[in-house]
Amino acid sequence: MRIALFGGTFDPPHVGHLILGQALLNFLDIEKVFFVPAFIPPHKKGEHFSSVEDRLRMVELSIRSNDSFAVLEIEIKRGGISYSIDTIREVKNNFKLSRDNLFFAIGSDNLLDFDNWKSPDKILDTCRVVVFPRPGFDVNRVKDDYRKNVVFLRTPLIDISSREIREMVKRGQSIRYLVTDEVNRYINSRGLYK
Ligand code: ATP
Repeated sequence: MRIALFGGTFDPPHVGHLILGQALLNFLDIEKVFFVPAFIPPHKKGEHFSSVEDRLRMVELSIRSNDSFAVLEIEIKRGGISYSIDTIREVKNNFKLSRDNLFFAIGSDNLLDFDNWKSPDKILDTCRVVVFPRPGFDVNRVKDDYRKNVVFLRTPLIDISSREIREMVKRGQSIRYLVTDEVNRYINSRGLYK
């Protein structure tokens, strides 16, 4: 079994996340993509983000029409700061996977920041890191070590971010088509990002 982990804050999950999840299925022969909402994202400590209940619910609503997508509550259950290396190790053991059958997907913004992650080299040893390009990404800015050890996926550039979506809601603009209709309704009903 080949599986992929796609971690994030998902505040909110947007259609970019879904397009990229589908790309993992299409190009890497992966059976299941697990979306993993962070309990406390290490890089966003001190920032304000929506409750874990809201973020989890929005991920569930986003992915429910795709049987090959699932949500994994592993970081929520573990609590504390959500370090990816802990998640990757736990999933690898639970599913009894080899390195080649476990993929960990990140956007290129995160690859540029990879040195600041907990145990980046151990992450690369434990699983296969897949990188999605994001607008403005320059591969020359990536350390050689990382560049050689990750898989770059040739997905379309998607200029959508959760941050921009939150700002649009705050400005009173419609976020229709940037998130699924159900997520849009959920954000409205909960009054998120106002
Ligand atoms: P924010 O704007 O709040 O920082 P985000 O849009 O980057 O959020 P996250 O939940 O942090 O969303 O993203 C989860 C993962 O998906 C991260 O690895 C991020 O780099 C990646 N990602 C998110 N949006 C895109 C995109 N448009 N293209 C490529 N990768 C993306």
